[in-house]
Amino acid sequence: MKKKILVTGGAGFLGSHLCERLLNEGNEVACLDNYFTGQKRNVIHLIDNPYFELIRHDVTMPFFIEVDEIYNLACPASPIHYQYNPIKTIKTSVSGAINMLGLAKRIKAKVLQASTSEVYGDPEVHPQPESYWGHVNPIGTRACYDEGKRCAESLFVNYHKQNNVRIKIIRIFNTYGPKMHPHDGRVVSNFIVQALEGEDITIYGDGKQTRSFQYVDDLIDGMIKLMNTGEDFTGPVNVGNPDEFTMLELAQKVIELTGTKSKIVYQPLPADDPMQRKPDITLAKKVLNWEPKINLEEGLIKTIEYFKSVI
Ligand code: NAD
Ligand code: UDP
Repeated sequence: MKKKILVTGGAGFLGSHLCERLLNEGNEVACLDNYFTGQKRNVIHLIDNPYFELIRHDVTMPFFIEVDEIYNLACPASPIHYQYNPIKTIKTSVSGAINMLGLAKRIKAKVLQASTSEVYGDPEVHPQPESYWGHVNPIGTRACYDEGKRCAESLFVNYHKQNNVRIKIIRIFNTYGPKMHPHDGRVVSNFIVQALEGEDITIYGDGKQTRSFQYVDDLIDGMIKLMNTGEDFTGPVNVGNPDEFTMLELAQKVIELTGTKSKIVYQPLPADDPMQRKPDITLAKKVLNWEPKINLEEGLIKTIEYFKSVI
C-alpha cells in the first residue's frame, strides 16, 4: 500500500538516500529541509517524480502536513557543523522533536527519531548495548549535539507514554557513503577527499581512537525495518557495523584503495573526542532480523568512486 511519508533533513546525506529508497518502494515522499548542511543536488534527480515533494522549512518552527509516517533526521551531524551554532543545534534537536511529535500526535502518524551513538558519549562500556546510559560531558563542545539527542529521546519516550504516540528510536553509529558533502568534515569524507586531491591526510590525535563504520545502504535497510516493526517495539535500537578500526587503520586503507601519494599528518585531538565506539547489535539482529552486509573495503570502494565523480 502506498504510504505518505515525511522525511525531515531529507536533502542531507542519509535523508536523500532514505527519500530515494522510500520512493522506489512505491511511497509518496515529502522531503523537508532548511539546507543548512543538505543540498538540493542530493535529491534533484527525484524532482520529476510526481510522488516526491521538496519543502524548504526549519523544524524549529511548527509544521503541518498529513502523512502516515515521519522520519525525523533534521540535524547537522558533523562535529564542525553542529558546533558552528551550538544553540541552534540544541533547538533543532529539541524543538524539532517537539514539533514532529506534536504533529505525529495530531495526525496519528508513526514517528522515527534518528538518534545517535553519541548518546553513549566517550563510552566506558565496550561494545555499547542499548542498556548503557552513556558517559557524556554536559558542558563540553559536543554537548549541544549529544545532550540535544538525549533530550529528544526522552521527549519521544514521554510522548509515547503520555500521549500514545507511536514512536521508534534508532541509534545510528558512524555511517558513510556516496552523497556525503566533500567538505562535511567527518573522517571518511575528509580522508577520501584529501587522498584524491593529493593533500595531507589529517589524523586528529595519535590515530589510535576507534570507530565502527557502516555503509549507508545497510543503515537505510535497518531504519526502514525498524519503522515497520510491531507497535510494541519502540527501541532504542543500535544500528551500526561492529567491525572496529583505528583512525590510523582507516587512513592506511584509504591510501591503499586510492593509490594516493598523500602523507599522513597528525593534528590535535578535538576536546571530548570519544576514544572508542562499537555497537552491540544483538537487539537489531533479534528484533529487526538485521545485520550489516557491506564491509569497510567494499563500502570505501563505492564511496571513493562517488567522490571521484564529484570533485
Ligand atoms: P547531514 O548533515 O548530511 O543531514 C542533516 C540534514 O538536516 C541536512 O540536510 C540539513 O540541512 C538538515 N537540517 C539541519 N537542521 C535543520 C533544521 N533546523 N530544519 C530543517 N532541516 C535541518 O547529516 P546526516 O549524516 O545525513 O545525518 C542525518 C541524521 O542522522 C541526523 O539527525 C544525525 O544526527 C543522524 N545521525 C547520523 C550519523 C552518521 O554517521 N551519518 C550517525 C548518527 C546519527
Ligand atoms: N578525525 C580525524 N581526521 C579528520 C576528521 C576526523 O582523525 O580529518 C577523527 C576524529 O577526531 C574522530 C574520528 O575521526 O576521532 C571520527 O570523527 P567524525 O567527525 O567522523 O565522527 P565522530 O567523532 O562524531 O564519531
